[in-house]
Amino acid sequence: MSNIKIYISFDFEGLGGISQWDDVTSDNKDYKQKYAVAQLNALFEQLRDHEVVVSDSHDKGNNIPWEITNDYPNVKLISGGIRKYYMMSGIDESFDRMIFFGYHSGVGEIYSTMDHTYSSSFIHNIWINGKEMSETLINAAYGGIFNVPLAMVVGDDKLKMQLAPYFNKIYFIETKKSLGRYAAQFKPMKILLEEISSTTKLMLSKDKEYFEVFRFGKPVEMVVELSDTSKADMVESMPLVERIDGRKVKLVSDDYKTIFEGLLAITYICS
Ligand SMILES: [Zn+2]
Repeated sequence: MSNIKIYISFDFEGLGGISQWDDVTSDNKDYKQKYAVAQLNALFEQLRDHEVVVSDSHDKGNNIPWEITNDYPNVKLISGGIRKYYMMSGIDESFDRMIFFGYHSGVGEIYSTMDHTYSSSFIHNIWINGKEMSETLINAAYGGIFNVPLAMVVGDDKLKMQLAPYFNKIYFIETKKSLGRYAAQFKPMKILLEEISSTTKLMLSKDKEYFEVFRFGKPVEMVVELSDTSKADMVESMPLVERIDGRKVKLVSDDYKTIFEGLLAITYICS
């Protein structure tokens, strides 16, 4: 198998063994970093022949220990923040495919572990071209700017359901059955780790051309509903932003990069 260049965007809420904020908050005594490391090891073990960049994209971007690269000299780690293009920083046209690891469903999904889209505290909803969004769709379309397809997603059953209308070819590893915003049923860890290994192998057996590059139709219209009117009062001063009601703002552009940058700017302004 020839060398494949793989971009991994890491999030935490969608992983096995994770059901609440304490599990994914680095200064909490219940922080489950070792679960993330175990699941990442199952993935990295299969990627040894390939060039990998992993972007630690949860919270402060300080979840993946740098030591892990001692076992995998083919893996470069992007860490920390604030950084430009946060969950997708470092991606460009040199990559062959993307993996979204530990992803969760978009905001508002019923019985879905820690559902949110870019912010659980101040974003009520995001629509692009009239469709409800998730971080997976928003980030996959950013990869689409560079012609990089989404090949594999590791996340919960509700995310799998949300993505079904959009992707025919991706490999999806279901980490858990979400039972509520802070509840889930986990499969045995051993089974999940085996599934990560076997599905990653299958994904690697396909050519880049097999996978679909995800893009939004132009012009791209994004509507963001914020948690309260004061957030919208602040965001309204951004270029391109149109206030459409008390809590909603709208951005329209033919250039999706501008929309993506606008969304990140909104999250930085409001947090
Ligand atoms: Zn996260």
